[in-house]
Amino acid sequence: MTKYEECKPAELDAIIEECPFAIIPWGAHEWHGPHNACGLDTIKAYHMALDLCAQVGGVVLPPVYCSYQTMKPWRGFRHTLEFRRETVFWLALQYLEQLYDEGFRVMLILMGHYGGKHVETIQEAVQRFNDCHSQSRAVAWQDYLPAGWVEVKGGDHAGKNETSLLMHYRPDLVDLARLPEGEEVNVDIHGVGGEDPRQASAEHGKMLAELFVEQAAPKIREMLDEVLRMREVARRKV
Ligand SMILES: [Zn+2]
Repeated sequence: MTKYEECKPAELDAIIEECPFAIIPWGAHEWHGPHNACGLDTIKAYHMALDLCAQVGGVVLPPVYCSYQTMKPWRGFRHTLEFRRETVFWLALQYLEQLYDEGFRVMLILMGHYGGKHVETIQEAVQRFNDCHSQSRAVAWQDYLPAGWVEVKGGDHAGKNETSLLMHYRPDLVDLARLPEGEEVNVDIHGVGGEDPRQASAEHGKMLAELFVEQAAPKIREMLDEVLRMREVARRKV
């Protein structure tokens, strides 16, 4: 996989020519239970983006920690940075516009934070971008979405799925012993939603991560084929 910020200009030129695909991993700094690092959303989306890039090519941008509708205003949890809706909207739109300007033609915003209004805001930015550009394709997916295409349900909040993904990628950032013993965990007290994170495992995380790439890669290749064909036609006209 290729990290955008580590590329020299000639390397970026070659990528834009062969596989003009860019992934922006997008998440939050947000409370994820007492057992997970607060950057979980972004760290998991970043690693999933790197895995997908290794499979299809293109580049991965540095992860963006900038989210709206987090656990702070919603449930009062600390260690969480809440940004304004407008900030998220314009940042997403400007990333897409700038990547387009550089020659990228398929852009994926991979969302590790799933707050409903946050997701809606990013989708609106993507829509605005697509309305203005017919020669490219931009999409925004929650990182659990591709697994959902084959009926595998992910997308909790610091529960079994998210905790497993972090255990797979960064086991040093998870400590299940910090969860209360013999007590149910819930959203109000622990900030945990979904299946019990005490059932999490690196193996389950690996399964989710592999399924993500398996499902996402063919969709990205389809979009790439489409935009490369359009680019070819446009070049012939010149
Ligand atoms: Zn999360």
